[in-house]
Amino acid sequence: MQELTHYINGAHVAGTSGRAADVYNPATGEVQSSVPLASAAEINQAVDIAAAAQPAWAAVNPQRRARVMMKFVDLLHRDMDKLAEALSREHGKTLPDAKGDVIRGLEVCEFCIGAPHLLKGEFTDSAGPGIDMYSLRQPLGVTAGITPFNFPAMIPMWMFAPAIVCGNAFILKPSERDPSVPLMLAELMEEAGLPKGILQVVNGDKEAVDALLDNETIQSIGFVGSTPIAAYIYERGCANGKRVQCFGGAKNHMIIMPDADMDQAADALVGAGYGAAGERCMAISVAVPVGDETADRLIEKLVPRIEALKVGPYTAGNDVDFGPVVTAAAKANIERLVQTGIDQGAKLVVDGRDFKLQGYEDGFFVGAHLFDNVTKDMDIYTTEIFGPVLSTVRAQSYEEAINLAIDHEYGNGTAIFTRDGDTARDFANRINIGMVGVNVPIPVPLAYHTFGGWKKSMFGDLNQHGPDAFKFYTRTKTVTARWPSGIKEGGEFSIPVME
Ligand code: NAD
Repeated sequence: MQELTHYINGAHVAGTSGRAADVYNPATGEVQSSVPLASAAEINQAVDIAAAAQPAWAAVNPQRRARVMMKFVDLLHRDMDKLAEALSREHGKTLPDAKGDVIRGLEVCEFCIGAPHLLKGEFTDSAGPGIDMYSLRQPLGVTAGITPFNFPAMIPMWMFAPAIVCGNAFILKPSERDPSVPLMLAELMEEAGLPKGILQVVNGDKEAVDALLDNETIQSIGFVGSTPIAAYIYERGCANGKRVQCFGGAKNHMIIMPDADMDQAADALVGAGYGAAGERCMAISVAVPVGDETADRLIEKLVPRIEALKVGPYTAGNDVDFGPVVTAAAKANIERLVQTGIDQGAKLVVDGRDFKLQGYEDGFFVGAHLFDNVTKDMDIYTTEIFGPVLSTVRAQSYEEAINLAIDHEYGNGTAIFTRDGDTARDFANRINIGMVGVNVPIPVPLAYHTFGGWKKSMFGDLNQHGPDAFKFYTRTKTVTARWPSGIKEGGEFSIPVME
C-alpha cells in the first residue's frame, strides 16, 4: 500500500504524528493508500517555514510572480492526463469530469496572471499643497486553506493561485479522502519556479485544522466544505482575529415554468442532478415544476433519461455518466436519506436502491433516484443529500416556486427554465441566492467573475476568485506623502480639513 506524505519546504515529508487515514478507490472499495494526519506540531513547523520564506516572495515583483503562474498553467496542460487519472482514482468521478475539475482551477490561474494589473493601487496627485496620496495592496503574510473532497484540484487552485500571486505564502490542508492531486499541484508549482516554503501541503483532519485556526502567524483562512464545519471554522477563525471566508453546503432549486422547452429542461436536470453522482455544491437537487401539467410532462421526460444513465468506474472510459460516491459512509448516508423519503410519503419514481455493478460489488456505487411529490417538511428536502437523488416539489404557481427557494436555508445556486424574459428577470432580481442561472442549470461563474452563495452557504464577506480574491488576499495601505519643499513652518494642532 502506498504511503502518502506532506509537502513541506519543497520536499515530500513522512508524517510524524503516528496517525493516518485510509484513502479508498471508490470504484473497487479497496484501500489504495494511507495519508498521514498532521499533529499541531507539524502544522506549526510548516507555518514557521512559510513565515521565513514569505517576505522574499512578497518582494518579487508582481510580473515575475505572474510568470510562475504562466508556467504552472503550461505544466497543468502537460500533466492533464496524469492529474485526471489520480483524481478519478481517489474521488471516483469520470475522467472527462476530472479534467473539468483541473481546468476550472487552471482558469483561475490564468486570471491570476493578470496580477500586475489587479494589484495596482490608486494615486491622487496634489491631494493638498505638495501632498500626494496613494494606496498599496500588500500581501497578508502566511495564509491557509481547508478544502473538500469533491473538487480536489479546482478548489485548492481557487485559493492558492490568488493567495500566492499576491505575494503570500499558503498552507493547504486538503481533504483526507483524496490528497494526491493537491500534492502533485504543489510539486508543479515548484517546477514552475515557486520558491520552497511558499506552497506547502499538510494533510490532516480536525487536529490539523484546529492548529491552523489557533496559529497566531496565520493571517487568513479559506474554507470550502459542509455548512456545520464552515460555521465552526468561521467562528473560531474570526475569534482568533483572522480574516476568514467559508463556503458551505447547498440545496439548489431549478424552477421549470410551463413555457419552458421540456426536453431542454429534462436534459439539463439529468446532467445537473446526476453528474459527478450529485457530489457538487452546484448540483441541482430539487426540481420545481410550476403546475401539475408541467410536472407530469417533466417527469415523463425525465424517467427514460434517468433510467438510461450509465453508472460505472472511471476506467470504463467516456461511456460512463457518473461514478461511485466517495466513501462507504457517504453511500450509507444517501441510502438512509432515500429511506426517509419513502417513509415520509414521497413517491420514488426511479428506484436506484438495487443498483449493482458486476465485478464492482464492493465499490461505493449508488443508482440514480428520482422522487416526486416531495414536500417542504421532508428530510430529503431540508437536508443536503450529496448523491444521485433528485427531488421534485410540485408548485402551483410561480410565487409558490420562488418562495420555496427563498425560504430554504441554503442559498448557493438556483436556476429557472422559461422562455419569458419578464419572469426570468423578476426571478434573478428577487431571489436571495448567490448564483442564478436562466436556462443554465449549473451557473458556476467563470474565473473573472466571483463565486459564492448566500445564507447558510457562505460565511464571510468576499467571494472566491475574480476580483474578490485579490481583495481577500491583500490588505490596503494608504500613504499620504509630502516632501520638505511643501512643508509649512510650525506644528498643526487641529485636524487638517479642506477649506
Ligand atoms: P467536510 O465539511 O466534511 O470537509 C471539508 C474539510 O473540512 C476537509 O478538509 C476536512 O478534513 C475538514 N473537516 C472535516 N471535519 C472537520 C471538523 N470537525 N473540524 C475541522 N475540520 C474538519 O466536507 P466534504 O464532505 O469534504 O465536502 C462536501 C461538502 O462541501 C458539501 O456540503 C458541499 O456542498 C460542500 N461544498 C461547498 C462548495 C461551495 O463553494 N459552497 C464547494 C464544494 C463543496
